[in-house]
Amino acid sequence: MTQTIFMVGARGAGKTTVGKALAEALGYRFIDTDLFMQQTLQLTVADVVAREGWDGFRLRESMALETVTAPKTVVATGGGAVLTPSNRTFMRHHGVVIYLRASANVLAERLTEDPEDAQRPSLTGKPIVEEMLDVLASREALYQSVAHHVLDATQTPHEVVERILQILADETVK
Ligand code: ADP
Ligand code: MG
Repeated sequence: MTQTIFMVGARGAGKTTVGKALAEALGYRFIDTDLFMQQTLQLTVADVVAREGWDGFRLRESMALETVTAPKTVVATGGGAVLTPSNRTFMRHHGVVIYLRASANVLAERLTEDPEDAQRPSLTGKPIVEEMLDVLASREALYQSVAHHVLDATQTPHEVVERILQILADETVK
């Protein structure tokens, strides 16, 4: 088992938190594509979108996704990465895709509690719960379709990691 593990899910699902802990447990490298883009471009997501629009951002996101994909790596993807069809195909074929699934209420609660996330501007100007409902309505089917495994992300990070380790161990046996 030396492939890439892709974490997908909405903002607040725990892709970074769980992904990091999972990488540690496996002795894998951990990479966050949003952070990778910020560091390599020296621009924030907002900067890239302001300069190049969402199309430009999505193109750079796809390049980042392919660049960071390597054996023994856990990749936390951007929440919207699944919107690009080629990203979905790429992830399906280059590793194990884990969807961290949680309700809009849970996601909104976490984002409100997290000072770092609370500072992030709302994408739509709507209350955060409504925004998360919209996001899930438009993406749930995409997350489901790209995922090899759908995990209940309302468990503690430790429990989610344990469950993923179990799934990976089962796959290796098969
Ligand atoms: P993502 O990377 O998917 O946007 P994060 O890992 O940044 O999500 O988590 C967002 C917030 O939710 C953080 O404050 C984090 O501590 C918290 N969090 C993440 N996973 C869980 C979990 N399983 N249970 C409770 N809180 C969590
Ligand atoms: Mg994250």
